[in-house]
Amino acid sequence: GLPPLYIITPTYPRAEQVPELTRTGQTLMHVNNVVWIVSEDAAVATKAVVQYLNESILNTIYLRVQMPVKYKKVKNKPRGVANRMAGLNWIREHAKDGVLYFADDDNTYDIRIFQQMRWTRKVSMFPVGLVTKLGVSTPIVKEGKVVGFYDGWIAKRKFPVDMAGFAVNVQYLLERPLASMPYKVGYEEDGFMKSLGIKASEIEPLAFNCTKIWVWHTQTKKNEPAIPVNRTRATFGSNL
Ligand code: UDP
Ligand code: MN
Repeated sequence: GLPPLYIITPTYPRAEQVPELTRTGQTLMHVNNVVWIVSEDAAVATKAVVQYLNESILNTIYLRVQMPVKYKKVKNKPRGVANRMAGLNWIREHAKDGVLYFADDDNTYDIRIFQQMRWTRKVSMFPVGLVTKLGVSTPIVKEGKVVGFYDGWIAKRKFPVDMAGFAVNVQYLLERPLASMPYKVGYEEDGFMKSLGIKASEIEPLAFNCTKIWVWHTQTKKNEPAIPVNRTRATFGSNL
């Protein structure tokens, strides 16, 4: 059969959480043989999320962890790292083959990227749209090989890629028990790639040699000011 796709989605409580998970989940309903690992960064499980996942027809796994408090205090937080790591640990305990991908709850995915990433042997990479002023972050491909990276923020990274721009073979991960993602803002992807020990020459370019954008780093505008849920009805009701 098809190798399974393990999709790790970090998420956290806010008004936009269930809408984001709804969009991401409905995208994944177009993909075969998916295990959707929704990993929440929260002190307690958000009821609406657990209920949403229980109602879903998808094969879902719910995990909950919290970002370590020392990082929560700083302004520029390593967002999604603790919960992505929880997802990786779940895969280490439960998966034996297939491919893993980090799908943030707020990004936009063309299902063709899932069809292609499923066949990743080590690490595959592909363009991500709406990253920095340049508008795209992508490997540069020459004769089918990755020869460099185009990204608006190189910052001495060996692998200047977006979190949404790569997939990893599960067996390849399992053979590297020390692979992990650092709590280092801006360097999470680079650190993870380095910990895997992948060589640039081994990277498998997808999306027709990185000529197609099939993932976008979209960001949802915050609902400001957030309307307290229990006041919504009264507010509308008073105008009837
Ligand atoms: N996230 C999280 N905890 C946080 C903030 C964000 O788990 O405190 C998740 C969020 O749901 C998303 C990912 O981490 O899946 C990246 O966060 P965000 O989208 O805010 O970052 P950006 O895309 O703006 O870099
Ligand atoms: Mn985001």
